[in-house]
Amino acid sequence: MADMMRRLLGFVCAGCLLFAQSEEPQPPVVDPGGGTQPLSDAIALFNGSDMSGWVNDKGEPATCEVSDGVMTCTSGTGNILTTGTFQSAQIHLEFATPSMPDHTGQLRGNSGVYLHARYEIQILDSYENPTYPKGALGALYGQSPPLVNAARPPEQWQSYDIVFHAPQCDQSGAVTKKAAVTVLLNGILVQDHVTIEQGNACGPGPLMLQDHSGFEGAPVTAMRFRNLWLRKLHD
Ligand code: MG
Repeated sequence: MADMMRRLLGFVCAGCLLFAQSEEPQPPVVDPGGGTQPLSDAIALFNGSDMSGWVNDKGEPATCEVSDGVMTCTSGTGNILTTGTFQSAQIHLEFATPSMPDHTGQLRGNSGVYLHARYEIQILDSYENPTYPKGALGALYGQSPPLVNAARPPEQWQSYDIVFHAPQCDQSGAVTKKAAVTVLLNGILVQDHVTIEQGNACGPGPLMLQDHSGFEGAPVTAMRFRNLWLRKLHD
C-alpha cells in the first residue's frame, strides 16, 4: 500500500513539474474587487451620480432620477440606451421592481434588459405573479422561459449576471453563428447557453433598459437600477 502511495505521489509530482515548466501564457489577472470596489477590468455603465453615458431612444440625454447610487426610471422616461456599444460581454446589473399590488401579469413591474437593444432578458415582478412563462422574470422574452422562478418580492434588490455571445458573421455580413446567452438571476441559473433564434444581426450594439409603457392602460412603473457593469468578451 505504502509503495503504491509512493508511486502515485511520484506520478503526481512529475505532473506538477511538467506543468511548472509549461510556457503556456498565464491567464490575465483580474482583481475581483469586493465591497464597493468594482472588478478591475469592468466598464461601469452607471457612475452612480448622474445619467452620463445614457440616452433615450430619441438620442436625447436620459432623464431617470439619480440618488444614492440608484437610478429610478419612471414610465415616460422612455427606453434608455448606453452610448457605448459592445459585441460579446459579461454583464451585471441590480434592479428592484416596485410594489404594484393593483396590477397583475405583464402590468406588474415590467422592464427588460435588451442586449444590443434587441434581445430582451425580461424584468418583471414574478413573485407570486404568474404570467406566460416566456414573459416571466428570467425569460429570454418570447423564446425561452426561465429554468426556475428565482424572483424576490418587489422592492427588494435582485441581480442579473448575463453572459452574452454576439452573433458571428462573415465578411459579407451574413450571420454564421447565432447569438447565445446564459443568465443567472439572484445567482441562480435561469438560461443555460440558450441560442437566440430571432432577430440575429451583425455588429456591436448598446445595452437598453425598457420603459414598458406608452400603450393604453399602461400603469406608472418606477424601476430602480444600480451597479451596472460590463466586461467585454473576445470570442
Ligand atoms: Mg419587459
